Amino acid sequence: MPIPNHLLPPKDGDYYSGLWTNGVAAGANGELLEPKSPIDGSATCQLRAASASQVSEAVSNASHAFEHWRTVPPPRRGEFVRLIGELVREHKSQLADLITLEAGKIRAEAEGEIQEWIDVCEFAVGLSRQLHGLSIATERPEHCLIEQWHPLGPVGVISAFNFPAAVWAWNAMIGLVCGDPIIWKPSEQTPLTALACNQMVQLASAKFGVDAPTGLSAVVIGRADVGQALATDRRVPLVSATGSVPMGRAVAELVGARLGRSLLELGGNNGMIVTPSADLDIAVRAITFAAVGTCGQRCTSLRRLFVHTSIANTLIERLTSVYETLPIGDPREPDTLVGPLVGEQALYAMQASLAAAHDQGGTLICGGDRVTSGVPEGGVYVQPAIVRLPVQTPVMHEETFAPLMYMVEYESFDDAIEMHNAVPQGLSSAIFTNDVREAHRFIGPAGSDCGLVGVNIGTSGAEIGAAFGGEKDTGGGRESGSDSWKQYMRRTTCTINYGSELPLAQGIRFGE
Ligand code: NAD
Repeated sequence: MPIPNHLLPPKDGDYYSGLWTNGVAAGANGELLEPKSPIDGSATCQLRAASASQVSEAVSNASHAFEHWRTVPPPRRGEFVRLIGELVREHKSQLADLITLEAGKIRAEAEGEIQEWIDVCEFAVGLSRQLHGLSIATERPEHCLIEQWHPLGPVGVISAFNFPAAVWAWNAMIGLVCGDPIIWKPSEQTPLTALACNQMVQLASAKFGVDAPTGLSAVVIGRADVGQALATDRRVPLVSATGSVPMGRAVAELVGARLGRSLLELGGNNGMIVTPSADLDIAVRAITFAAVGTCGQRCTSLRRLFVHTSIANTLIERLTSVYETLPIGDPREPDTLVGPLVGEQALYAMQASLAAAHDQGGTLICGGDRVTSGVPEGGVYVQPAIVRLPVQTPVMHEETFAPLMYMVEYESFDDAIEMHNAVPQGLSSAIFTNDVREAHRFIGPAGSDCGLVGVNIGTSGAEIGAAFGGEKDTGGGRESGSDSWKQYMRRTTCTINYGSELPLAQGIRFGE
């Protein structure tokens, strides 16, 4: 398969290097990786991973870069991110090619992911002039009490295979304007996308000049041990980790043990309630996109559908007829809507969940089989599945990273909300209703317990202007827009006495 390699850095001998720091390949000495494309199972590249002990070198360089970058005025740091955004616009199509190759996303979704990067650049540029604190009323005369935000230090980013560019970009573009260098441990499934993304930063650095130190952006590619080394390093005050719940737990323990900050974006198990008043035309479209988009491999994919008894059969019939005509196949073809699973393991997980759902009283409504004709040989393609269950059973409490949606009927709205919230994860949620009371109850304090709550909209597809993230086992982190930037900075409460007295707070008298 041709690789758009003009975006990639030169090879280090025979292999791509999995260690880039100070703008150069730094002699990675870890294991040899040969990731497979989900499209057809062929090797995408050969890459020499960084070893866990080499992470320290990237952190040292980032720490050194921090000493200068934190003093560069924020709007000037914004100018650097603006240059990155320009380069990404220019190379959008080729970057999307890499995402399709390594993550198996269809073209529209791969380009959408790069568009998120462009959007977050624009957001970050504006933000670079708005990193403002507060002026606070003080109880002491001739005093001034202000809150300031300063750069935090090198930020470690650990990212998942399914958003191989955007998750890093959300963190990195905001972190850079906040004054922080970035050390990225991408998924070992998607190293080329990571190298190409880092190249965009290097090209921007060359244009920007001396103010951008070479250690601003590093990539350390390897397995879990490389991520663990990043999580353990005390010089990395913030580790932003995106991936499965077990990964997040492991990272949080390491970062917590040294009292560092972690920002966790972990697995979801997203639900939707469809009420009697719902507009089923838009509900069917939203459900389908949310459940089968990215072949069910989004953290925000729809996995649990709670439908009022009065409309359950109608909705199932309409969904089944849409599912029967879904174009499944090569993600590079313009008409394909459902591309491949990432690999065989994902297929086994889907089959195991289907078997468990069957054992727990579920009825398979449609899908679930592997597709072998009309798709590239060597890839893992499946028919998205819907399983109807009498109640919410244990299998529905787990995230299965595949296009598998469970459906349960409800009679009372209270029961629907209770079932919706009864799982450990808390990322994305939605309700389809034209009843204003139901809508407000769902978005209100006793409604959905998730970080993302939608009304008459699907669970997937977030905008970068708002804060993204979820509660409970999803980790509680918030990334991207709104005031998420505050996590990438440190706050100082600054008291200035401009008088000639020394009044103490709380009226305390001491030694007078
Ligand atoms: P994963 O947890 O297997 O891997 C994610 C990253 O963590 C990879 O870079 C991996 O090498 C690294 N890693 C794994 N174990 C580690 C450890 N013990 N210490 C340090 N690093 C470790 O996840 P995946 O299969 O790549 O992605 C799918 C998962 O990610 C799903 O659960 C999905 O819901 C979740 N996800 C969440 C979000 C979100 O924003 N909430 C976004 C995308 C993906």
